[in-house]
Amino acid sequence: MIAPGGTIGIVGGGQLGRMLALAAAPLGYRVHVFDPHERPCAADVSAGFTRAAFDDVSALERFAAACDVVTYEFENLPVGPLATIAGKLRPGTASLSIAQDRDAEKSFVRDSGGQPAEWRTIDSQDDVEQAWTDLGGPLILKTRRDGYDGKGQAWLRTEEDVRGAWTRLGGRPLIAEKVVAFEAEFSVVLARGLDGAVAFFDSPRNHHEDGILRRSELPAGPVVEAQQAAARLQAARIAERLGHVGVLTVEFFAAEGGPFVNEIAPRVHNSGHWTIEGAATSQFEQHIRAICGLPLGSTALRSPKVTMDNLIGNDVDRWPELVAEPGAALHLYGKGEARPGRKMGHVTRLG
Ligand code: ADP
Ligand code: MG
Repeated sequence: MIAPGGTIGIVGGGQLGRMLALAAAPLGYRVHVFDPHERPCAADVSAGFTRAAFDDVSALERFAAACDVVTYEFENLPVGPLATIAGKLRPGTASLSIAQDRDAEKSFVRDSGGQPAEWRTIDSQDDVEQAWTDLGGPLILKTRRDGYDGKGQAWLRTEEDVRGAWTRLGGRPLIAEKVVAFEAEFSVVLARGLDGAVAFFDSPRNHHEDGILRRSELPAGPVVEAQQAAARLQAARIAERLGHVGVLTVEFFAAEGGPFVNEIAPRVHNSGHWTIEGAATSQFEQHIRAICGLPLGSTALRSPKVTMDNLIGNDVDRWPELVAEPGAALHLYGKGEARPGRKMGHVTRLG
């Protein structure tokens, strides 16, 4: 157990790290951020900051020595270097290595009793054509590693799309996944404590545009509510089999014969941002509690209706109107330049 007053290290200095740091403060913890960038937005609200590359083992070791526990806010991290500080790392490297390879992830989900969409491993153009024959279209090709916010994906709808697809995606290891004709997307955000206790947040319905989350809303509606219990069971099995400690997010498709697992994030998640105002304990506080060995907090709803809208790119220019809106909770990440597709903030409304 890490008592209040201790120091929590966070690898990754983006908005998730920033909101984790903000949630650690009321419990009396100090936060130390590790990130290669010059001024990561999490470092602005943290007591300590190490600027170093994620694979700089000696910097990681010095950082870990200065922290009582280390967590991560980002899954595309090199596992080897982090394994050198495994003694302090929560969640561990198993969660990381499974979640960062879509092929390993899908096998792991299936072997845990979960239900992924049908998929094939792709290492050549021949494999793409074989998958098209075996599974039928439409398919989505996804890079096995490093994809996020819909990046590194291509839809194959016609024979035409199949031709040359391997080269178009850069000749990298891929998976081909059957497109799920889903009725809704939703996520299970859970926390697993050091003692193995599991707490679930209510599942929001998630709306994506161009592969990026736009909105999460509660209540999620009857389609999602009908599949939430089965999804929780799958997500809890995955968490247990990973030996996961902390928040784990599993994205699902609600569909006939579902729910189908889309992907796992071994961390706090954009579709859980609504919990800051909408739940008795936020996902960020819950993660801090879990990795410090404290009891998990209540996940009770604070309002029967909650919506969270992302501010992506230039959306953030609407801040003057949003900050003036009664009851709207505005979160700006302090990230500087509003490039297209960049998550700059979010706004949550209750009721
Ligand atoms: P990322 O890591 O970029 O979030 P995802 O695999 O979650 O990648 O894909 C992003 C979005 O693309 C999903 O939220 C969903 O809207 C759509 N999508 C991905 N895979 C499928 C699929 N098999 N069937 C239908 N839609 C999909
Ligand atoms: Mg996703």
